[in-house]
Amino acid sequence: MRKTIDNTRANPIKALGADEDGKIRGYMCLTDYECEMGLADCRHSIYPTLELCLELRQCADQCGIVKIAIEVEEIVQEPTGYLAEVEDDKK
Ligand SMILES: [Zn+2]
Repeated sequence: MRKTIDNTRANPIKALGADEDGKIRGYMCLTDYECEMGLADCRHSIYPTLELCLELRQCADQCGIVKIAIEVEEIVQEPTGYLAEVEDDKK
C-alpha cells in the first residue's frame, strides 16, 4: 500500500537545496521574470547562485537579475514511480 503525501501542509515537499522554510531560492534574468515567467512556458533558467547566474546569463547587465523563491503550493498529481516507492520504503 502506498503512503499518500500530506499536501495540506504549507510545503508538502522538502526538496534538496531548500532553505529552512522549505522554499528553494535562486536567481534569474529580471526581464524573463517580469515579462515572461507568468506565461510558464518552461524556457527560463533559474540558477542556484548569483555567481552562476552572472556567469551564464550574458544579458545580466542589460536585463538585471532577480532573486526568487519557489515553493510547492499543491501536489496536483501523486507520483506512481520512484517517489511512491521511496514513500513505501519508509513504512
Ligand atoms: Zn535577460
